[in-house]
Amino acid sequence: MPHRRTLHAAAAATRRGSAHALNRHGMFVDARMERAYQQAVLAVTRSRLRLFGLLGGAVFLLAALLDAAVLRDRVLLGELFGIRLGIFGLGLLLAYLARPTARSGLDTLRRALIAFELAVVLGLSVITLNYHGAAAYRVVPLLAVTLAFYAYLPPLTRANLWLLPMLGAAYLAEVDLAYQLSPRSMAMVALLVLLANLAGWQLAVRDGRARRQAWLARRRVRREVRERRGAERSLRRLLEVCPVPLVVNKARGGDVLLANRAARLLFNPGRSQLAYRQANASWFFVRRQEQRAMLGALRSRGLVRSADVRLRTVDGAPIDVMLAARCLRYDGQPAVISSLVEITARKRYEQELHRLSETDPLTGLRNRRGFFLDAEAMLDRAAARPLSLLLMDVDRFKSINDSRGHGVGDLVLQMLAGRVRAALRAHDVLARIGGEEFAVLMPHTDLDDACVVAERIREAVGRHAMRIHGQRLPVTLSIGVSLVGQGRMAIDNALSRADAAMYRAKEGGRDRVEAQAA
Ligand code: GH3
Ligand code: MG
Ligand code: MG
Repeated sequence: MPHRRTLHAAAAATRRGSAHALNRHGMFVDARMERAYQQAVLAVTRSRLRLFGLLGGAVFLLAALLDAAVLRDRVLLGELFGIRLGIFGLGLLLAYLARPTARSGLDTLRRALIAFELAVVLGLSVITLNYHGAAAYRVVPLLAVTLAFYAYLPPLTRANLWLLPMLGAAYLAEVDLAYQLSPRSMAMVALLVLLANLAGWQLAVRDGRARRQAWLARRRVRREVRERRGAERSLRRLLEVCPVPLVVNKARGGDVLLANRAARLLFNPGRSQLAYRQANASWFFVRRQEQRAMLGALRSRGLVRSADVRLRTVDGAPIDVMLAARCLRYDGQPAVISSLVEITARKRYEQELHRLSETDPLTGLRNRRGFFLDAEAMLDRAAARPLSLLLMDVDRFKSINDSRGHGVGDLVLQMLAGRVRAALRAHDVLARIGGEEFAVLMPHTDLDDACVVAERIREAVGRHAMRIHGQRLPVTLSIGVSLVGQGRMAIDNALSRADAAMYRAKEGGRDRVEAQAA
């Protein structure tokens, strides 16, 4: 029962004294509110009044034919026609004032309507009074006018509503005074008039109430839309001036809906003519798997708190960014907003630090840490086996340092690194793991082959003395060779076996290669 609920709500609102409360005539209790409503629906009111003025006036005029059929007195007919003509004129005036382009305001229309209604009511009374004895004739137009007024006319004032019961009462009084109707007929006529008024009143009040409530709802929706548009405008301005790069994409398809100034500067530093609206999030991702991971997180949790990803600018230059994203609605559609912080420099710095932590600064070879990392990675690759290890130590290096100085010692180490590297394959790992100690890891190499390589290295280093500052400096290596076995300690074990072999080489007179004990 929506209607009953509406009435309850209206009654409750009346008790609260709210401006939205409706009185029992279906009008707003608050006069300003009622005026605002009538002003808002003025166009509809105008068209109704116009039609009513024209048609009502015309019907009233045409009813002169009925006069001519019932009455015989020409003078009387002329007088009545004069009245009808006058009312028709008022109807035309009402229609004229209510025309869509009219300047007339609400108050003029109210007055014109009351004037027309009063004229009709009075005219009807005067005319029907002359229908001697033909009470039945008079009931029909009376009831028709009553219902038409109630159903069609917007009650601009309460007077519009009260006019009709007054008309009914006047009519009944007239009938009672002028005609000798039987009590039964009188009661019937009174009942009809009463029913027409009750029904019409109900109709008018309910209609007025429903119209006003619909107007309130429309107003509320309009206000909400206005507020939302305002909020969106503010948000857009805020996004635009925000110094953090922000991008809004369509959730489906990834089309870029908005990129603020900071984002445009980040992605388009050369300010080339890129239509961001045609751009697509997929294009900006350098690594597919990073995009997939992000989309997965958005789908399952609706947000990405922080992710380091590599994107590209419109010129194709890669940039590293820290990205946070969240699902939201934008322009009425599901979207994703992302905030980005460029970390390209930081990433490069981190990578450099990482590289340095595994590199020997003197020779540029892998350092001890780098050697163990590579060794672990190689052990994980079963395909690297057989895997061999060389451990090399410069012979009597202390004496080079002592006789030529530490700087020459350093040069020797650098030249040595070059000579050894040149004797190895690209995928062999060469590292400086101690002062003048080097290690080599050789995948796909058994102990015999490793001994051959070690011999080649020894030869390459020892055959020609190094030339440093114009002086010849003979440098030799003692090399221990071992095969990397299985298990968690495989590298450490291989290193100690190679170390033992190397010491045998030292003891055996240096400048030699020794393999691990069988
Ligand atoms: P051996 O044949 O027994 O190996 O004799 P050695 O003189 O080489 O003896 P040892 O291996 O004990 O000496 C290593 C020397 O290497 C000691 C140290 O002064 C020197 N050394 C270690 N690191 C560096 C470095 O970075 N630069 C230079 N110039 N010398 C270093
Ligand atoms: Mg040593
Ligand atoms: Mg040494």
